[in-house]
Amino acid sequence: MSVVAFLVVVVGSDAAAAAVKVTVTPSAVRQGDVAFMVITGVGAAPEMDGSLTGRPLVFFPYADGYAALIGIDLEARPGKTPWRLGFVDGTGAPRKAAGAITVKARKFPVQRLSLPRSMVDLSPDDERRANAEAARLRTLFDTIGPERLWRGRFTKPVASDAKAEGFGSRRIINGKPRSPHSGADFSAPAGTSVVASGRGRVALVVEFFFGGRLVALDHGEGLYTLYMHLERADVAEGALVERGSIIGAVGSTGRATGPHLHWAAQLRRARIDPDALLKVPVRD
Ligand SMILES: [Zn+2]
Repeated sequence: MSVVAFLVVVVGSDAAAAAVKVTVTPSAVRQGDVAFMVITGVGAAPEMDGSLTGRPLVFFPYADGYAALIGIDLEARPGKTPWRLGFVDGTGAPRKAAGAITVKARKFPVQRLSLPRSMVDLSPDDERRANAEAARLRTLFDTIGPERLWRGRFTKPVASDAKAEGFGSRRIINGKPRSPHSGADFSAPAGTSVVASGRGRVALVVEFFFGGRLVALDHGEGLYTLYMHLERADVAEGALVERGSIIGAVGSTGRATGPHLHWAAQLRRARIDPDALLKVPVRD
């Protein structure tokens, strides 16, 4: 995987400022990708903050500097995407740095489906329920836990050679565009164990109209992973789970045509490809 090192324009021009280095991996980010930003040369930097097109970046101490995950929403506008950083250098002076990453458009498959109206049009009750459940998820995703709970690389949620498929696909049902598929699907037999893809706290164990039995994990600092259509959930809300520990089993609850795991991830409201989390080159 290639890495881009940025020439950082730092306000102030002494040696301390010149030593700041920012790298972002991978070098080309696509819609739905997760990039990993590492900053070195900022000293102890007690007040590190930054943003990417107005969205805050959340930094954690990493190696001898700081790092942040950058989530690129699946419908993010392609092109140059500016970031900025602010920190306090070793002498206590406020510093700023700025740069840009390039977001590339990604070709998502388009699925055209013709379904009986009864399968597409919800009853008023079901529609109210589905809307309330979507709102509950949005409220959760807006909650940014203060502490990074995840450590090291992320792992696949099912032990299978199957690839996670269908992230971002545009669904056109009976000629009407629907919201893009914001997760990736693993097909696996019912009862297959589902494991936590990273360390985190169980934020939700619920039965939703579309998602069926669903577990949401809060990995801290605004990162969530979701596991849907479960046959069973083996964890309770509030529990801290380790990466790779069993949280439930594959099923076909909710709106599902057969047993599969719908796996999704959100990073501070960016709908990211959960598969991209597996590629984050984090060491600890
Ligand atoms: Zn799905």
